[in-house]
Amino acid sequence: MSVDLVQSIPELRAVLTPRRGKGPVVLVPTMGALHAGHTALIRRASELARNEGGGAVLVSIFVNPTQFGPAEDFQRYPRPLAEDLAVCENAGAAVVFTPSAEELYAANHSVRVEETALSRGLCGRDRPGHFPGVCLVVLKLFWITLPDIAVFGEKDFQQLAVIRRLVRDLNIPVRIEGTPTVRESDGLALSSRNVYLTSAQRQAAPGIYRALQRGQELHAAQPDLPAADLVAHVSAALRQIPESSLGYVAVVDAESLEPVSGPLLHSAVLAAAVQFGTTRLIDHIGLV
Ligand code: AMP
Repeated sequence: MSVDLVQSIPELRAVLTPRRGKGPVVLVPTMGALHAGHTALIRRASELARNEGGGAVLVSIFVNPTQFGPAEDFQRYPRPLAEDLAVCENAGAAVVFTPSAEELYAANHSVRVEETALSRGLCGRDRPGHFPGVCLVVLKLFWITLPDIAVFGEKDFQQLAVIRRLVRDLNIPVRIEGTPTVRESDGLALSSRNVYLTSAQRQAAPGIYRALQRGQELHAAQPDLPAADLVAHVSAALRQIPESSLGYVAVVDAESLEPVSGPLLHSAVLAAAVQFGTTRLIDHIGLV
């Protein structure tokens, strides 16, 4: 079965219309440079479609300019389209949507979509404008593709929480499915940005997950340890990682994403952002 590659919105609608009503349309939004994490999302989408009567898996590949800050990596973000198409096809996608920026954004577009609570801390603080850009493009993709289900990675757990809130608060009729983080064998979370790492940085980068795991173990051994102390331990471990500088480390409530400093009474998430040169990597681990 070969994949349908479409670039324009009318073309996409034409391809999707005959597929509707024969099981769910399942959307997997990506920025391309697909890796095994994306493959897991597409496979999960295929499984959901199959289990619910057939349907069609649609992967969007779009490096969304509005979610990048002016000093970020929008220009250099990798765009290996031929390889990406092969990944989509092998993982079970029926349709791949690769719009241009002009297709999605009018030159004088002037509507903003802002989630105002969950987006405030963590990556939202370091990357002002990032989550409004994500909300805008995801909302556009939902309107354009009218999916029954959309699949996102837990790797970007703040993004997933923001999108769930967007869907809840705007009553969007789409079911959001999260998929666990896929990692390299040394623990590094797969990311399209890992290709930017020098070999020394790549060697050092698994230290992020190791530090988070150490934090998780410390919490399991001393459940009463205040979150601030946990953060201090993990922060010290992260600062030891060669070639890197620490962006943030925080313990946040798993639901509200509000920072926790005292004892952990509810389930929480230990999250970190670490910078290797100009490459910013994020990861997190659950604390129960
Ligand atoms: P991106 O192309 O980086 O915007 O990511 C597209 C989707 O893939 C998002 O829902 C991400 O959370 C998800 N994703 C990225 N990396 C991973 C990973 N290592 N494991 C699972 N999902 C991932």
